[in-house]
Amino acid sequence: MSKVMIIGAGGVGHVVTHKCAQANEIFSDIMIASRTKSKCDAIAKTIERPIQTAQVDADNVSELVDLIRSFQPDMIINVALPYQDLHIMDACLETKVHYLDTANYEPIDEAKFCYKWQWDYHDRFKDKGIMALLGSGFDPGVTNVFTAYAKKHYFDSIDMLDIIDCNAGDHGQPFATNFNPEINIREITQNGRYYDNANWVETRPMEISKTFVFPEGIGPKKIYLLYHEELESLTQHFSEIKTAKFWMTFSDNYLNHLKVLENVGMTRIDPVLYEGKEIVPLKFLKALLPDPSSLGPLTKGRTCIGCILKGEKDGKPREHYIYNICTHEDVYKEVGSQAISYTTGVPAMIGAMMMLTGKWMKPGVFNMEQFDPDPFMDNLNRYGLPWKEIKIL
Ligand code: NDP
Repeated sequence: MSKVMIIGAGGVGHVVTHKCAQANEIFSDIMIASRTKSKCDAIAKTIERPIQTAQVDADNVSELVDLIRSFQPDMIINVALPYQDLHIMDACLETKVHYLDTANYEPIDEAKFCYKWQWDYHDRFKDKGIMALLGSGFDPGVTNVFTAYAKKHYFDSIDMLDIIDCNAGDHGQPFATNFNPEINIREITQNGRYYDNANWVETRPMEISKTFVFPEGIGPKKIYLLYHEELESLTQHFSEIKTAKFWMTFSDNYLNHLKVLENVGMTRIDPVLYEGKEIVPLKFLKALLPDPSSLGPLTKGRTCIGCILKGEKDGKPREHYIYNICTHEDVYKEVGSQAISYTTGVPAMIGAMMMLTGKWMKPGVFNMEQFDPDPFMDNLNRYGLPWKEIKIL
């Protein structure tokens, strides 16, 4: 029986709150707190169990500390934005409360993400006897656990890792992102990067692409190489990996819209002066685009996210594919969200469950692949994200 505080009432916050509410044997008391309290209240209304709600500015550490002291949660699930990660971690240190997030820290004025800022908290978390679990979404998150599972059961060493993320769904909108538009567009418009023989190789955005045939009738789709944060932690924790790449599908329509927006300066993150007032074009664009949490009833089709691993076992070459397929319409029926929010929110809940049941509990700051993958994999099957595997070789 544990108390959990969820911070962030967007698309992912909606799913995490629903999934925690389903597991009442673990999460006996739930609070959702965010910048706009009415969004927390709207989520709470869709759930039969009582859910407490609160307003909080998660960039204000003393405000956070006051709220944590009044609710006294065992842990915080941070599904606000990456800009808030360090502030929430500071509040956790001050109140000795465990921490979990789904995206690594990113400074607001620079489109750059890396784990160093959060890994630097390790000794302070350890000294206080509290734990932080980083990146407990799907990618990062489940993809890290898939890799750890493959290493544990099928490989003596992994040489090559390809993480491939496909959203084969369609929301019928001319242009929309499936999670926070600002974070999504910052990620996609920056240079690509992949790991090759202990070196990071930089590419221009979307410079490398190829066709991949997805399983179960999804079929061939063009995938583009991007940089993604789990490449940093996985190549560090499985140091034998020689090549690691992250790929994502995009429709031509999406890429054409994005190119035009970039060309006219709408994706800039530096402030520009407009009629005597400073505005950030990308933040303004976010205000115009559909809210990802509104796409639930509109999105049809499936996602397919997984890992292809190559390496060796008992001196013989081995190749393995582990993936999950999630159907937008099915998860909308279950929790009223589209599959991108769902595939992020379910692993966030499972990560919290791993910590609160003591299966994954160690003081310090950790990534998902540093723990036994088996109980997490079992819970994916149990809580709505069943996975499959194909032995290729
Ligand atoms: P949304 O934009 O829909 O929701 C973000 C929420 O955070 C909003 O409710 C927002 O409040 C709130 N928020 C923002 N700033 C503050 C603040 N200073 N204080 C309190 N609350 C704040 O985003 P998503 O739900 O789509 O994404 C949530 C997180 O999940 C992001 O960090 C994203 O990167 C991550 N993610 C991870 C994935 C993975 O697989 N690992 C995949 C997809 C997303 P308001 O409503 O007032 O704006």
